[in-house]
Amino acid sequence: MKDKSFETQAIRAQHNRSDNNEHSVPVYLTSSFVFDTADDMRAAFADENDAFIYSRYTNPNTNEFVNKMCLLEGAEAGVASASGMSAIYTTLAGLLSSGDHVIACSSVFGATHTIFTKYFPKWNISHSYFNADHPEKITELITPKTKIIYLETPTNPAIEVIDLEVVSKIAKENKLLLVVDNCFATPFLQQPIKYGADIVIHSATKYIDGQGRVLGGVVLGKKELVNEIYLFGRITGPSLSPFNAWVLSKSLETLSLRMERHCENALYIATEVEGHPLLEFVKYPFLKSHPHYNIAIKQMKAGGGIVTFSLKGGFEAGKNFMDKLKMIKISPNLGDSRTIATHPASSTHCKLSAQERNSVGITDGLIRISVGLENKKDILQDILQALS
Ligand SMILES: *Cc1c(COP(=O)(O)O)cnc(C)c1O
Repeated sequence: MKDKSFETQAIRAQHNRSDNNEHSVPVYLTSSFVFDTADDMRAAFADENDAFIYSRYTNPNTNEFVNKMCLLEGAEAGVASASGMSAIYTTLAGLLSSGDHVIACSSVFGATHTIFTKYFPKWNISHSYFNADHPEKITELITPKTKIIYLETPTNPAIEVIDLEVVSKIAKENKLLLVVDNCFATPFLQQPIKYGADIVIHSATKYIDGQGRVLGGVVLGKKELVNEIYLFGRITGPSLSPFNAWVLSKSLETLSLRMERHCENALYIATEVEGHPLLEFVKYPFLKSHPHYNIAIKQMKAGGGIVTFSLKGGFEAGKNFMDKLKMIKISPNLGDSRTIATHPASSTHCKLSAQERNSVGITDGLIRISVGLENKKDILQDILQALS
């Protein structure tokens, strides 16, 4: 399958057929597997073969999903996880030890920020944040204890784009691991391993499912590192359910088609609302006005499905906009076939002070639109009527 193109791999990489010769891979809802002899079971536990043992470890459905993701991201190995956060936590906790230090982009996903600021200090793991505008300044933050550089690009919800080539060079020169949350781009738009990332993580809950049905996550990268993470997860138990893995693997069959349409619709919305008199700014990686436009066009195939804009009227105007939407729903999810709107200042980021929010690019009037697959004119019409 390695010689086939992205679309073909996403459809044709399948688990081996069972004796029933099914065309579409069935759901393997089984918690454990049986062995013909005691010696067969011994061999499986001694890692002498890769037989299935127990679904906390591996399962045909999770294997199919992971193998397909490895092909799509160009990774040597991977491990599935119950959610994006469990993928992130298992990776960091599996690789870090007490005393270690992490350097992360300042606008990381909210729950990842909480891991760094609330939980890691309990285990003596510290962090520093770098500004997406100045990745070269990461070098000033490196200490003898630094082990990982962690970033998202584009970031959620500030839509900053971080130069993977620049950060990867710094990581290599300083023998640090580069971990990238590739959730917003998906492997269809950007493959961080090509730029030198050691580990790529996804919340599969978003574009990989793409229809707002299941939670899931996956960690991909170098075999040695992934194995360490796998062994930690196999003991601590954040396993992906076989049913969710089956849904996610099926969803990958249409990822390229969906992403093309998400990107087309999002670019249309961003272009149409840019310059609207009630908006302070519109942010989308493939708009020429985006401060990181040149990086975006270098490392991404298209701009992705998320558009943000900020209302001049601030907090109240942001909330009003949300209440006036008719078709587009208020929800914290993203990457769905349905267009979704979020007002971070009054929801996902309400616990931060206005100053803390502003420092990571979240203005009081910021609206995040996860542009769906509906007809782009219907999406635009709803946004325009809510702005009027
Ligand atoms: C949603 C999200 C996560 C967390 O994923 P869950 O599946 O909700 O646990 C992590 N990173 C980014 C960028 C996300 O958008």
